[in-house]
Amino acid sequence: MNKLLFNSFFLFLFISCNVDSQECCDDEIIEEVFQDLGFDKPYTYNNIYYGRNKYIEFHPGSLPLIIAAPHGGDLIPSEIPDRTYGTMVTDSYTKELTLAIKNAFLSKLGKTPYVIINNLKRTKFDANRDSIEGAQGNRYARRAWEEFHYYINESKIMVKQDFTYGLFLDIHGHGANPDGFYDLRTWLGYLLNKDELQLSDVELDNENYQNKSSIKTLSIISPENFIDVLRGNNSLGSLLDSLGYKSVPSVNDPSTNGTHYFSGGYNTKTHGSAISGSPISSIQLELPKPGIRENSLQRKNYSESLVITLQKYFKIHYGIEL
Ligand SMILES: [Zn+2]
Repeated sequence: MNKLLFNSFFLFLFISCNVDSQECCDDEIIEEVFQDLGFDKPYTYNNIYYGRNKYIEFHPGSLPLIIAAPHGGDLIPSEIPDRTYGTMVTDSYTKELTLAIKNAFLSKLGKTPYVIINNLKRTKFDANRDSIEGAQGNRYARRAWEEFHYYINESKIMVKQDFTYGLFLDIHGHGANPDGFYDLRTWLGYLLNKDELQLSDVELDNENYQNKSSIKTLSIISPENFIDVLRGNNSLGSLLDSLGYKSVPSVNDPSTNGTHYFSGGYNTKTHGSAISGSPISSIQLELPKPGIRENSLQRKNYSESLVITLQKYFKIHYGIEL
């Protein structure tokens, strides 16, 4: 009998407490407190770090190369409403391609680039826009934006410490043009628009265009002239072209010939050396789907060619053996 009374008393206490806490919490909106950016430091090679809810992932590397996939994600969490303006198209298989590039480096060199991936679908968050357009007022999307750029910035700091200079590549995919024509060339974005690429080598090879290009610093430290780094024999486009991946600009395709073209977005501007002269230069890669992104064999073949290309590129322009 005493035991029953004792239990009842505690049951009463338990119910009272629950009622109290129910009352207290209904009146308050509990907002999730985010951890400080960088709480997961130090970033060590061979580990993978995840932002909140794994929307963003970060693979620290060991090369003076940083690769990001901002538009290949597929997560559609209900806590983030769909964006209401801007571009919504996913760059299909660019996340898989970026991981294939990392693996190709690991297989051939036993070293990897730094890799930053956005796993959110573009309808929820655009990781190649400023925070206003990219997150559109949602605090969880805004947090993903901060993490994405924080991990890139941390990568840049580590590359500068270890190599002084480096390169950031923003990986994208393009589809058919608005008129239905599918340009099967890779569009390399250096922040020079298609009208500027129409200029002759003599017109383009001057300080104004060099200064506004995303490879400003790279073209200063390279033994080659700006125009040659941009579209000469040892440019990224020509080296890729020599392995069967036609690219603009390059020796064979120096300009867009008036067709649709992307010259580089927010990440290429923010994380390259245009104007600022940052030690890290940048190039946007807009890859066609056929022949590069369609299946794992294509992605593997392309990745192996990109490793060969970048080994030559770093040796010629940076004087660095990867
Ligand atoms: Zn894109």
